Amino acid sequence: MAMTIHRDTLRPVPLVEERSWVALSACRDIDSDLFFSETRSAARNAKRVCAGCAVVDECLDYALEINIRFGVWGGMSTSERAAMLRDFAATRDTDLATG
Ligand code: SF4
Repeated sequence: MAMTIHRDTLRPVPLVEERSWVALSACRDIDSDLFFSETRSAARNAKRVCAGCAVVDECLDYALEINIRFGVWGGMSTSERAAMLRDFAATRDTDLATG
């Protein structure tokens, strides 16, 4: 399996192309520029593709796992994923503080 060292985590992670779920993705035959455009309309269209994707959970997990900072993954934009991670961290911190 091909691996890459992710710069944010310094952990080896399999390349996305090596993930078995990629073969089932709704975007496998769509130009990836749609998912990495800066425009809101492109992001909306990308999310529409994601909405019909059979592996949306796997894709989102992958993006969160290696902290991908660009593009629409798992039906969520970069800022939406960042907000999700902040909410998760806040909940975790609250749970740790209250025991
Ligand atoms: S959730 Fe979206 S970006 Fe992820 S594999 Fe499916 S269509 Fe592609």
